[in-house]
Amino acid sequence: MTSVLERLRGERPVFSVEFFPPRDAADEAALWHAIRELEQLDPAYMSITYGAGGSSRDGTIRSIARVATETTLVPMAHLTAVNHSVAELRNVIGWYAAVGVRNILALRGDPLGDPYGEWVPHPDGLSYAEELVTLVRSLGDFCVGVSAFPYGHPRSPDLATDTAHLVRKFDAGADFGIAQLFFEAEDFLRLRDRVAAAGCAAPLIPGIMPLTTPRTLAKTIELSGVHAPRRLLDRLEPLAGDAKAFRAEGLDAVTELCERLLAEGVPALHFYTFNRSKATRELVGRLGLVPARA
Ligand code: FAD
Repeated sequence: MTSVLERLRGERPVFSVEFFPPRDAADEAALWHAIRELEQLDPAYMSITYGAGGSSRDGTIRSIARVATETTLVPMAHLTAVNHSVAELRNVIGWYAAVGVRNILALRGDPLGDPYGEWVPHPDGLSYAEELVTLVRSLGDFCVGVSAFPYGHPRSPDLATDTAHLVRKFDAGADFGIAQLFFEAEDFLRLRDRVAAAGCAAPLIPGIMPLTTPRTLAKTIELSGVHAPRRLLDRLEPLAGDAKAFRAEGLDAVTELCERLLAEGVPALHFYTFNRSKATRELVGRLGLVPARA
């Protein structure tokens, strides 16, 4: 099974796509429609997020198994340490391996209920993503990704500490990082500079949200943990009542961001799809991103 790292080694930048597990049959149909549409563009890899509840977690495992066995896509499964003992984590990792998933995004995750509440590890579990990286590495020949935060993780006291903790994840064996959402190319580039200055050469992939609706803008603000720049709000807020105009302007803004990142030599762009394909396909076409096998 191909590793994400191998897919990042081409001469041209590539793209990847992120989905979440389906909640019901209608969701599942929409997810698979999007997966099949995007499969034709040969993304470098596709990933499925890992939720907190049992049925959502089952959905991740079921969907990633189907991707591994029924599509040409390179699957990457997210995994979090939330509410899992080490024995359970070993089981899930073994399951991923059994269905042919060799790429894992190793995450600590957020506390159940209140993401900003106190983090209490499972009594027989792990406290930090770094430990999950070590565990995954110890269980086989996996390619391991980790999260990175352009503005620092909300729980980090400062950027220097945040960078040190990120670098520890690479020292523990992580192969690449995917950056949380951000607004300006410079925000990502400063993260890349901090990691490089710490002597770490692991590839970092920017996370990109297609800004098609006011909801996607709100989600980007929430996940990035910062206010959107006034410049972007002035472009998009006046269009909030006009769905078509908002989408057009939002995709223009994202195209400009991606063009700048590509000019700065990022190896890939990681698109949040919300289990739809249209906006990502449009962006991939506009940016001239090529199939990973090209
Ligand atoms: P960690 O790297 O463990 O960091 C958590 C905090 O602890 C940080 O403040 C860090 O600086 C600090 N820290 C790290 N190591 C140490 C140490 N040794 N000593 C002291 N402090 C330390 N969540 C989900 O639930 N499911 C998903 O599928 C999912 N996918 C994601 C994908 C991406 C690309 C990103 C960016 C995030 C994703 N998340 C997901 C969210 C993520 O789980 C949360 O942001 C979570 O709060 C942190 O996880 P982490 O892996 O970054 O944790």
